[in-house]
Amino acid sequence: MKYGIKTIDDFDVNGKTVLLRVDINQPVNKETNTLEDITRIKGCAPTIKELSDKGAKLVVLAHQGSDIEYHNYYNLKPHAKVISELIGKPVKFIPDVSGPYAQASIKELKEGEILLLDNVRFMAEEMTMFETKLKLTPQQMTQTQVVSKLSPIADMFIVDAFAAAHRAQPTLMGFCYTLPSAMGRLFEREYSILSDVLENPKKPLVFVLGGAKIGDAFCMMDKVLKDGIADKVLTGGLVSLVMLAAKGIDLGQATIDFIYNKNLGEYVEKSKAVLREFDDKIVLPVDVAYNDCGRQEANVADLPITHGILDIGHKTVEIYRKEIERAQTVFVNGPMGVFEQEETEYGTREIWQAIADVKSFSVIGGGDSVTATNKYALAENMGYICTGGGALVRFLSGEELPVVKALKHASNTF
Ligand code: ADP
Ligand code: MG
Repeated sequence: MKYGIKTIDDFDVNGKTVLLRVDINQPVNKETNTLEDITRIKGCAPTIKELSDKGAKLVVLAHQGSDIEYHNYYNLKPHAKVISELIGKPVKFIPDVSGPYAQASIKELKEGEILLLDNVRFMAEEMTMFETKLKLTPQQMTQTQVVSKLSPIADMFIVDAFAAAHRAQPTLMGFCYTLPSAMGRLFEREYSILSDVLENPKKPLVFVLGGAKIGDAFCMMDKVLKDGIADKVLTGGLVSLVMLAAKGIDLGQATIDFIYNKNLGEYVEKSKAVLREFDDKIVLPVDVAYNDCGRQEANVADLPITHGILDIGHKTVEIYRKEIERAQTVFVNGPMGVFEQEETEYGTREIWQAIADVKSFSVIGGGDSVTATNKYALAENMGYICTGGGALVRFLSGEELPVVKALKHASNTF
């Protein structure tokens, strides 16, 4: 058993009811009812196909959007269509996760049939707030609605959601305490590639950290800097804005309100210590961009501005480019700005291009970061594209991921 975790090869799934947890969280277009990127679905589609081909009665569980990314909070109907097209088999979707309808549909499954249940985050027990505030024990997870209702009608559990492996949530961990469990093919691949990179990274190693998930960013920044894994951390997105605020810079009311409305205010205080300790390693933007009837830029020294800050500026891009050129390994999570809009995509596009241009080994992770990579057609030039963002970041900080821990437990127990 590699890494102390069972794989699909350790089980005969033929005729068995298999619960498969994947991460197919993708940006959605709610008006057209379609997905704007399908990278993650492509990643786990081979696992779905393999299990179905081997005769499993396959029940797929997944989440979409969250309380943080509410704009992407949606049902999984579009995903069922995409999976079906990718693997050339019908995929049934039902708008239920663990109620009587779901239970009856699972019991009716025949060998090889695939059923996709609805967004597990429609249930309170799977929400981020629930996870971060209540911190359920494994025992308590087995008593949640979804785990207690689905475990008795399933034979085994497989996780192919490396991208969500840092989440201590019931559908990711809970079943590892009730059913024989294994990791899927994508999980196996991502886990082993990242383990290899981390074992012997080429230095200097530069982290590029942007995006909106500041909690994850802060957890790892402290760790990778203290342990000497990272030589430089280049910041963008909300991560950089929170850090600039922590430095005492007045960003302007619109940006400050945005930070506090997103409940990120606590991180302004939290980042003061790490900034003080690693002043020479954490690189902050020297200029920023906003949208006022088109792209406008301002030096950080000239802040505050009335408009919300939505990107890093040209000068910052040049500074970061030089750091990236010096690096031997680059880890990237989180876009530099609101790259979804033309006026504020410059920072992300240029930094992504710089990473693609250098010979150093790059690992790029995170749903939106991968979406940006595809948008700029750079996928071929990146070292490794990881479906995980938060998971990648935590894994690299040397933390044992909750789902890995749960899988090891199951592999030892059942
Ligand atoms: P990933 O999915 O790659 O892990 P995140 O989900 O953490 O990245 O962050 C991506 C989101 O952050 C994008 O939707 C982007 O628009 C947003 N974002 C980046 N910079 C800013 C900013 N300055 N203000 C508001 N949102 C931002
Ligand atoms: Mg994201």
